[in-house]
Amino acid sequence: MMQYKRPSEDTLKALETAPAMFLILAPDLYILTASNLFLEATGTDRAAIAGKYFFDAFPGNPDLLDSNGVANILSSINEVMLTGKQHAMPIQRYHVPDRSAPGTLIIRYWEPLHIPVFDEKGLLSYIIQSVKNVTEEVMSKVEARQSKLDSDDSLRELGLMNRRLELEVARRTAELKQSESKYRNLIQHCPVAIQVFRGEDMVFEIVNDLMLGFLGKTRDIIGKTLFEGVPEIVGQPIVDVLYGVYKTGEPLAVYGEKVILERNGKSEIGYYDVIYRALYDDEKITGVLGIAIDVTPQIVAQQAIVESEERFRNMAENSDILISLVDEFGTLEYLNASWAKMTGWVRDNLKQLSWDEYVHPDDRSAVTDKFINGLENKTEFVNEFRLQNKENDYRWLRIKGTPRFDSLQSFRGFIFSGIDITEEKQRLLEIEYINKALIFSNEQLLNANLKLLESEENLLTAFDAGELGSCSLDLKTGKAEMSERYRHLYGLPQEVEISWEMVLQAVEPEFLEEVNLVLENAIKFGKPVDSTYAIRHLSTGEKRWMRVVGKVYQGIDGTNERVYAIVMDVTAQKQDELRKNDFIAMVSHELKTPLTSINGYVQLLGMKMQNGDNYDGSPILTKIHAQLKKMTTMINGFLSISRLESGKIHLIKKTLNFSEIIGALVEEYKMLASTHNFIFNKCGQTMVNADEDKIEHVLNNLLSNAVKYSPANTEIEIDCRVDGDIVMLSVKDRGMGIHVHDIPKLFERYYRVQSLQTSTIAGFGIGLYLCAEIIERHGGKIWVESELDLGSIFYFSLPLITD
Ligand code: ADP
Repeated sequence: MMQYKRPSEDTLKALETAPAMFLILAPDLYILTASNLFLEATGTDRAAIAGKYFFDAFPGNPDLLDSNGVANILSSINEVMLTGKQHAMPIQRYHVPDRSAPGTLIIRYWEPLHIPVFDEKGLLSYIIQSVKNVTEEVMSKVEARQSKLDSDDSLRELGLMNRRLELEVARRTAELKQSESKYRNLIQHCPVAIQVFRGEDMVFEIVNDLMLGFLGKTRDIIGKTLFEGVPEIVGQPIVDVLYGVYKTGEPLAVYGEKVILERNGKSEIGYYDVIYRALYDDEKITGVLGIAIDVTPQIVAQQAIVESEERFRNMAENSDILISLVDEFGTLEYLNASWAKMTGWVRDNLKQLSWDEYVHPDDRSAVTDKFINGLENKTEFVNEFRLQNKENDYRWLRIKGTPRFDSLQSFRGFIFSGIDITEEKQRLLEIEYINKALIFSNEQLLNANLKLLESEENLLTAFDAGELGSCSLDLKTGKAEMSERYRHLYGLPQEVEISWEMVLQAVEPEFLEEVNLVLENAIKFGKPVDSTYAIRHLSTGEKRWMRVVGKVYQGIDGTNERVYAIVMDVTAQKQDELRKNDFIAMVSHELKTPLTSINGYVQLLGMKMQNGDNYDGSPILTKIHAQLKKMTTMINGFLSISRLESGKIHLIKKTLNFSEIIGALVEEYKMLASTHNFIFNKCGQTMVNADEDKIEHVLNNLLSNAVKYSPANTEIEIDCRVDGDIVMLSVKDRGMGIHVHDIPKLFERYYRVQSLQTSTIAGFGIGLYLCAEIIERHGGKIWVESELDLGSIFYFSLPLITD
């Protein structure tokens, strides 16, 4: 296709409605449009011919074998193109289809005139083929010629012919009148502004309303000259154009012509596309037809674009942001000063700049991919990449590409704006590093936490195993956080917030002062807590001994803030201690008694011997001996205890016939303790691996207790029985028996039943304790069955030696 500036739609529209027969041809002879009158005369419609090649739309008449119409038109157009001037063709015969009788043609003669129209750059924009239907003239001439030829023969028809001609003239005149009024009417209602000047002075002959509106004048300018009617036009370039057309007869078109007109007393600037065409009367120019289209809004918009473009450049040049433009093919059109400053690129020939070579090789393909994708899809995109600067360092850039569209919404390329994000990237890297470090330390923290949890669990398990309660007391608020066991030990409710006052309620009154003092010392001096006191269990009312051990922790302000303490039930130890004290008192008393007796006996013996009598001291010595034995037994018992407790009791085990040893001992007892009746049920050969002395000690103890705690003359039954792989021995008495409450504590150290009956019976509460220890160390068991006032049966068992 040829490159030419297609006339605007408005121009075409104006030409279509022009009161003449116009066919508008592009320089390549494709039909742009045709005027309404042309279409009417040729019996065609616009849609059928617009966009078609001229000779396709109007092929040579096939029935006209002599027709050389195509060649004539081509040579005329050639002439126009060569000279740039209009070219009038001789009359052409070209028949048009008869719409009323499809398939037939109507004879037509035409007078075509080809007028070139140039754009503002002087290039051929389009060609107006103005045609005049001269069929009637030709026909009448032909007819005239024919009639002349036939005159001789047709003289008689002359009158008739004359008459016909007269009629024809009358008809033509009427037609002309009609056509003129039609012409004026058309102009008046034409949607483009039209004016017709007549004469050298450019007298307004016709001006339609639209044109009047442009001129800002009223109908009274008709009949006035241009300068009279529109005085402000004097000196404006458009006048030269108008006169030029009038003088040369060559049609002229100017586009976007600036014209200053006075409207409503105000001088207003407007821009118009104006076409002037000379009007002829025969060969003489008699006037000018002017068509104008107001293009002010477009021009103003264009100017605004130009201005905004200028403003854009100005702004871009002075901006710190990297700004660049590429056209719709991706070719670099513009780079601002910031770009040049950073890269050192010379902006003379940007089209030659291979900017992508400066992109870091690792980023290059991603950058170009996005760029191409953006161009293809005309969509916004962002690229982050490293670019080499003039110091040959790589800088990180973030460039955003925004598609550009012109006023007709055609894609014009991209505008890029970018910033240097090197520092941001650096910070991001640092953050990433910190993040990684954080994750790592978080993991460690988590591990430590897990370990802490584990150790807390361990601690809790340990606390549980040790039956320790834990508590943390806020020294300022008095609020206490307590473990389940702590609450349990004091009989405090679970699930309820505990205050120090609630704890104090459990403390036995005689210890309150001490407990408060300990707390005061903790608050004031941060002294560690260690206190043992008795409480009354808040739910059972039982008396218990508690030991609280704690440490004071200071807050950040250095004040003593909190006590973390553990509490343990020390009732057993405390009772043990109390019994021990009783025991010591009793021991001192019991040891003193035989000593006093021995002392007395020794003095008596001394006195008797001093008297010089041949005194037999044997009875006194026997008594002394008995007292000494009692003391020895006592002392041995104590020694056994202390040995036992210091772990120094060692069993010297050997294979023994248990039944035999027991039998011998019972026999001995039968002789010694004549107060009771001993019954012994033997159990035959029973071999055990045991310490003989210790087993004897156990039986001794059980037998002496049976004697001690049962009335004289009652039976003491010793039963030996083998049960599977154990041998079981029982000592049954018919004595005072033991209360069910005392039974579980009977084998504890220093435990003695406190009753009226026992108060008169001497004892230290260590016998059964030692028995239990000995039996358990032999892998056996010891227990008791007893009923108050009926008697008791003490049992112990030992494992038998099995082969
Ligand atoms: P003791 O020296 O007091 O007898 P033991 O340890 O041998 O010390 O006995 C502890 C307590 O068990 C005694 O004080 C007594 O109250 C009670 N007891 C021991 N044997 C008997 C028994 N056969 N009948 C009743 N009570 C007994």
